[in-house]
Amino acid sequence: MKSSNNLQGKVAFVQGGSRGIGAAIVKRLASEGAAVAFTYVSSEAQSQLLVDEVIAQGGKAIAIKADSTEPEAIRRAIRETKAHLGGLDIVVNNAGILIWDSIENLTLEDWERIVNTNVRSVFVASQEAALHMNDGGRIINIGSTNAERIPFVGGAIYGMSKSALVGLAKGLARDLGPRAITVNNIQPGPVDTDMNPDNGDSSEPIKAIGVLGRYGKAEEIASFVAFIAGPEAGYITGASLMIDGGFSA
Ligand code: NDP
Repeated sequence: MKSSNNLQGKVAFVQGGSRGIGAAIVKRLASEGAAVAFTYVSSEAQSQLLVDEVIAQGGKAIAIKADSTEPEAIRRAIRETKAHLGGLDIVVNNAGILIWDSIENLTLEDWERIVNTNVRSVFVASQEAALHMNDGGRIINIGSTNAERIPFVGGAIYGMSKSALVGLAKGLARDLGPRAITVNNIQPGPVDTDMNPDNGDSSEPIKAIGVLGRYGKAEEIASFVAFIAGPEAGYITGASLMIDGGFSA
């Protein structure tokens, strides 16, 4: 499994790593030598399979149940990561939900669920990580191209949540720069995961919008995350970087 030793000796925490983009990130970071802890909220069996897969391929991974809408659960998961894996160098905030509906239908409950899962969780994990992380560490948040462009009716709250991560990355980068901890925001375009089921009505327009005419693969996001996590990306911070197949072009 080891594709390189770029992250040998590093400890990574992936918030929301059981499925989709997060699972691809867990596998990729482990394949580069990092010991990886990841959280999930509901996918217990899938998380255990992922741990088994990483271990079978020579890597190290542990799964921790922690709901990203509960700040103390996130803080506990980060402390457990450090206790079990012996440090903390890389934090990837990937957990996120999509609620896509028109302004007439969106509710305050939708607002709270999206903001708590997609934004507050990133702040809480970054704050706890700042207390426990080694200098020279990496915080990588998974935003969305929808921070910049909402191509269909219904994305007001989701797009707002991902726009918030743009400013958060800048502010956190400035706070943590003196410790050489970089903070960046990766903005995928449509990626082939459970969040984007290829179920007919919406898939053809989505494919047509991107310059490349296809969904991205979770692995294509994970490889970029691994680069940002690695030693060659030390001068990139406070940035929001689109990996979107030209979706925003
Ligand atoms: P999936 O729905 O496939 O997976 C979501 C992941 O987040 C799962 O591991 C899930 O855990 C976890 N998660 C969700 N809510 C919580 C919670 N309350 N507590 C802990 N973990 C939670 O999504 P994707 O892989 O597609 O998306 C990952 C990230 O990428 C999200 O932030 C999303 O907004 C962003 N993104 C996705 C795009 C896409 O087209 N797919 C495009 C642009 C951005 P569990 O399995 O336990 O439910």
